[in-house]
Amino acid sequence: METTQTLAERLAVVEERIARACARTGRRREEVTLLAVTKIFPAQAILDAYALGLREFGENYVQEFETKAPQVRSLPGARFHLIGHLQSNKSRKGSELFDVIQTIDSAKLARRLAEAGKPMDVMIEVKLSEEESKHGCAPADVPALVEAIRGEKELTLKGLMTMPPWSDDAEVARPYFKRLSALAREVGVTGLSMGMSNDLEVAIEEGSTLVRVGTALFGRRKKPA
Ligand SMILES: *Cc1c(COP(=O)(O)O)cnc(C)c1O
Repeated sequence: METTQTLAERLAVVEERIARACARTGRRREEVTLLAVTKIFPAQAILDAYALGLREFGENYVQEFETKAPQVRSLPGARFHLIGHLQSNKSRKGSELFDVIQTIDSAKLARRLAEAGKPMDVMIEVKLSEEESKHGCAPADVPALVEAIRGEKELTLKGLMTMPPWSDDAEVARPYFKRLSALAREVGVTGLSMGMSNDLEVAIEEGSTLVRVGTALFGRRKKPA
């Protein structure tokens, strides 16, 4: 069923959910960044969200964002995060288009990105589930990758990111979020990109500092052609 809510109404609902989860866990609202995930939606969705005050945007595909970037790249204060896998042969393009790459999963990719020469914020995508299709660094390899990134002067490591297996039940994600929090403490990073439309409360309870929200803001995505 198509919802007839406006973006402003949906944003208010998401903000209320974030505020309640923060209040419940004694966290301040400013500790959690709302990243608006605009993949599949046209550049206009970014412009509309920007007009409502959102500044952090997430896109999954380098090529798709390349087509939207001319319309949105110069919005003052807007920052664009790549939250989908980056192939190392697209690292230069990725570095040009994005402010943050959340999906570093190998030292080779970090090296390639650093070679592009632009100062960038990055996060390590950690693969905590067994699903073979998912990208990400194995938990055991995270400490070495942290060291490799800290050795690249162009790259600033902001934290860890993960995507648990999809489930209707947000509680299914909780153990994954707990593991990511523990791993971040072990390696001494503070940023935690975790939580999406259906499980952002659980993620905030487990320490998320950035929730990536698409559907709850923009409605259901049509499948890419
Ligand atoms: C699409 C996507 C999201 C947003 O998911 P919703 O369930 O639509 O909120 C968040 N993170 C990543 C990595 C995604 O690919």
